[in-house]
Amino acid sequence: MHIPHVKSNGQGGADSTDASARPDPAPLGIYVHFPWCLTKCPYCDFLSVPLAPRAAGGEARALSGADEREVRNKVPHRAYADAVLRELRARQDVLVGRPIRSVFFGGGTPSLWEPEELGRVLEALQELAGGSLEEVTVEGNPSSLDERQVEGLVAVGVQRFSVGIQSLDAGRLAFLGRAHDTQESERAVRAAVRSGRRVSADLIYGVHGQSPEMALEEVRGVLSFGPGHLSAYSLTVEDNTRFGSLHRRGRLPLLQDDLVAETFWLLHEELTGRGFEHYEISNYALPGQRSLHNEGYWQGNDYLGLGVGAVGTVSLGGSRLRYKNHISVERYLSAYGSSEPEAPFDEELHEREWLTPEISIGESILLGLRTKAGIDLDFEGERRGVDPWTPERTEAAASLEAQGLLRRDGTRLTIPEAKWMLADRVIRELY
Ligand code: SF4
Repeated sequence: MHIPHVKSNGQGGADSTDASARPDPAPLGIYVHFPWCLTKCPYCDFLSVPLAPRAAGGEARALSGADEREVRNKVPHRAYADAVLRELRARQDVLVGRPIRSVFFGGGTPSLWEPEELGRVLEALQELAGGSLEEVTVEGNPSSLDERQVEGLVAVGVQRFSVGIQSLDAGRLAFLGRAHDTQESERAVRAAVRSGRRVSADLIYGVHGQSPEMALEEVRGVLSFGPGHLSAYSLTVEDNTRFGSLHRRGRLPLLQDDLVAETFWLLHEELTGRGFEHYEISNYALPGQRSLHNEGYWQGNDYLGLGVGAVGTVSLGGSRLRYKNHISVERYLSAYGSSEPEAPFDEELHEREWLTPEISIGESILLGLRTKAGIDLDFEGERRGVDPWTPERTEAAASLEAQGLLRRDGTRLTIPEAKWMLADRVIRELY
């Protein structure tokens, strides 16, 4: 069994335009990508530029405070904020009349960004949002999220921290190539919790050598630091990573599927028993602590992506555009480094495609059915301007319902919680 970590930035699809799609009035999220990390983790296929060389043999090396300050100085903090602001100015017309509900600074490691520079970007977004902004999240890694950085980020308006802990075990941290230790994880989460802002922690389970009980102990350890939200992902091997290459050569030890499944249910029992709501396959929240930004992705709402390699999906006229910015820092900085493009989204981009209504509906099924709330397929069809109930989908839904893998409540479809391990199959059949 394997439950993949579905990226919030969506999927690919055909290159076509459909003028019947309607402008989307739903609240919109803004994603700002900060591409630099201290080192590159071997399982990670997010766009990230490592600042520090790896030790011989490929292991991440922990950096002393002075070393970390030195590598951090390699980031063009101010120039990058200037470029993101220029990109925003070029594209802000798409935001007119649309409530901006959430801003998410992701990466990469945005906790490496000087708070003052991140704050300049956030201030511009706050002005555009008026009073509609409900959540501002910054992702951080333990080694760059100390008390001082937390205070600096809170001072510029950050309301939520998402901290990449991944493990509390020294051996697993080394296996996962993480450039921090358990003490730094505790320090980072406790500092964020002390700030009074909402805090989420990320953990990876299903790692070779990790029994379900070991994973449970790590979850208990992280919860003792006080976060109100936990994202628990099973280790996924992505092709385009160091782990992917080891896997192809048969050199990556993996945990057996049945142990991964056992761990999933053990964590579910523990977290729901402590009052956490299991509101998406990999996400748990105490009351009032859900991630509004990620809920926007899962509900198929538009999002504006800013920064190197950022993906966005925006309604323009009668169509929906999916785009991906330049993936090279140099190209991005030269595109937005000194002037704004005259026509937003007409400039050269890394990728650009017009989403057909069917692609949008397929993506909503893919993301929505991984949540406890499920998906209102009739509403999806209405807002995309097509009938979502093709004969094939109608037949597949009836068969899945008969097998107890799908539940219908009015127009809403959900996968019963007890069948979440089979979500990939259900989604494939309905996609
Ligand atoms: S710190 Fe996060 S974004 Fe950076 S390489 Fe590691 S997993 Fe990827």
